[in-house]
Amino acid sequence: MNAPMTRRNRTADTPAVFDHPEFAGHEQVVQGHDAATGLKTIIAVHDTRLGPALGGCRMWSYASSGEALTDALRLSRGMTYKNALAGLDLGGGKSVIIADPRSEKTPELLRAFGRQVERLSGSYLTAEDVGISADDMEIVATETAHVRGTRATGLGDPSPYTALGVFVGIKAALRHRFGSDDLSGRTVCVQGLGHVGYSVAELLHEAGARLIVADIHAPSSERAVKAFGATAVPTEAAHAQSADVFAPCALGAVLNDRSIAELGAHIVAGAANNQLAEPRHGEALRDRDVLYAPDYAINAGGAISIALARPGGDDKAVRDKVLQIAQTLTHIFQRADTLGLSTQTVADQIAEERLASA
Ligand code: NAD
Repeated sequence: MNAPMTRRNRTADTPAVFDHPEFAGHEQVVQGHDAATGLKTIIAVHDTRLGPALGGCRMWSYASSGEALTDALRLSRGMTYKNALAGLDLGGGKSVIIADPRSEKTPELLRAFGRQVERLSGSYLTAEDVGISADDMEIVATETAHVRGTRATGLGDPSPYTALGVFVGIKAALRHRFGSDDLSGRTVCVQGLGHVGYSVAELLHEAGARLIVADIHAPSSERAVKAFGATAVPTEAAHAQSADVFAPCALGAVLNDRSIAELGAHIVAGAANNQLAEPRHGEALRDRDVLYAPDYAINAGGAISIALARPGGDDKAVRDKVLQIAQTLTHIFQRADTLGLSTQTVADQIAEERLASA
């Protein structure tokens, strides 16, 4: 009799790697297993032309190994573009561990993952991601030197650097759109007041901006109302607020047919990953004369901090590189204007040019 379909063996609808819609020319895709600990991992190395492939490790209770493969391939390619555009001498990769981080994570399993990373001899550098904490990475690092963002090599939480990049990115967008990056009197609507969004709001407040805030967790909004004199609005109304800038710092796919038609801001610039519901929404924003800061360009600060952090905690090199996000965005905005293309398309082009010249 056939085994019953479980959440882990539904793979019939999943194409093999080379035929996979997200294959995107990956250099190497490794499936690792460890019988003793139950480890099932997929390590995807998309592109190493610029250097070893850096990308975090995600632990998730995937419904199938096919879903895990899709996620690894998609995220890995995204890291190639993010690292290339950020000017890092690093390629892109990503790993996933198929396990529930709340109930199936053990030190032995993390060490088994570390041994899989070690076998790749440094072509893949891992770091924390969803479901994997800094403490977990310390355990992984007992088995492999190819870890970034640990306490020994790192600066800790990358969120403040992501926030700094978003802040200078918002200023670059204001400069491009209005000829001045002065934030006093400007209104910014920040959606999502978590690790990144709250810090972005703080920097904007200090620079004199008026704030509108939205978070599904009411105490987070209330905190910003108290600290920054912000106006709180329901999250489903955030994109429609009349503001100079809409800064999505929570969810992906916030820019879709409906929200773009209702946008109340001239600029969209925020930290959230995968803000465009579909690639064509980059064009839709352009058609509405909304200046969009491509998410993977403006939110690279955290990746930069993980990539460049060195023992000792001196973050000058990291901050200098994060501040360059402003120049990168200005370059994207200007080229998009000249060529009549969406900023997303131009960001992809610039990343591809850097890869091709490597
Ligand atoms: P977080 O989990 O700390 O914060 C997310 C916040 O958004 C929480 O306060 C949550 O209550 C709120 N939220 C969730 N759903 C919401 C909704 N529908 N409307 C409004 N608020 C909602 O996450 P974070 O680390 O601050 O990351 C925020 C975004 O930035 C994510 O998309 C993340 O992938 C992206 N990002 C983060 C980093 C980083 O360094 N942390 C780097 C690059 C990209």
